[in-house]
Amino acid sequence: MLSFKRILLVTSNGRKLSQKGLGNFAAQRKIKDNENTKPKMPKLVIFDKDGTLICFHSMWVPWALEVSNRVCMRMNMDLSSAILQELGICPVRPGLLAEGTMDQINQVLTGLVVRSSGIESNQARSIVDQCTAGGDTATKNSIKTIGDIREMFEKLQQHNTKLAICTMDKRDNTVHTLEKLQLGKYIDYVFCCDDKGFVPKPHPDNAWKICKDLRIDPTDAIMVGDTKADINMALSAGLGSAVGVLSGVGCSDYLANANMLLDKATDLVDIFYGSAQQSC
Ligand SMILES: [Mg+2]
Repeated sequence: MLSFKRILLVTSNGRKLSQKGLGNFAAQRKIKDNENTKPKMPKLVIFDKDGTLICFHSMWVPWALEVSNRVCMRMNMDLSSAILQELGICPVRPGLLAEGTMDQINQVLTGLVVRSSGIESNQARSIVDQCTAGGDTATKNSIKTIGDIREMFEKLQQHNTKLAICTMDKRDNTVHTLEKLQLGKYIDYVFCCDDKGFVPKPHPDNAWKICKDLRIDPTDAIMVGDTKADINMALSAGLGSAVGVLSGVGCSDYLANANMLLDKATDLVDIFYGSAQQSC
């Protein structure tokens, strides 16, 4: 079992920190907690993609607005508020867009269209499928990584740590995004929501399959993600550690089950090697 220390986001006298100050405090406390103890290196790091490696807002908010406009135009109804509420936009918060598969998103939007318009479910599903299928997030020029992901991957690879991505996004979007950002060559395993055998997070099967295929004992692997689904998948799979990051949709309260909380995934390099990191 890996020996990560849990990072607490409360002061020593129990004072609750403001949300604004949580990020800096987490980083300061993280460094303090790890001054004298270096955790054992994992043999495998499984990363969530959106909100963990890729800036969630730059990738999915433009897509959500585009899909909302398409559905409104097709139905000739203003459903934008309800659609964005269901997806978890305005502000971006934990919700379907961050935690659901595309099929789950389409199911919920179909229900919304049926309730709002009274049309048949099959017809509504067809309209929703057409509206969501056209939005290719990987082609957006606004996509950016959270910190220097390439440097982190290189560091981990130099120390023979295998790298995997487990995402609720589709494979074509995921592969195109990784290629666009020139990150694909570092990844040993990519597991996406439309791959055979994928079960929506937080089911542990995804983590177990990745570990099995890469011949890594689950206790020698860690999971890094920005949602409860990521953290709970890691915990239910018995991974060495569930690492939450505050760079996506989740705050510290939301990610309370995590074994460790970091401001962003690239802080792992500080944890393992103690080197300074560049900011996003
Ligand atoms: Mg995420």
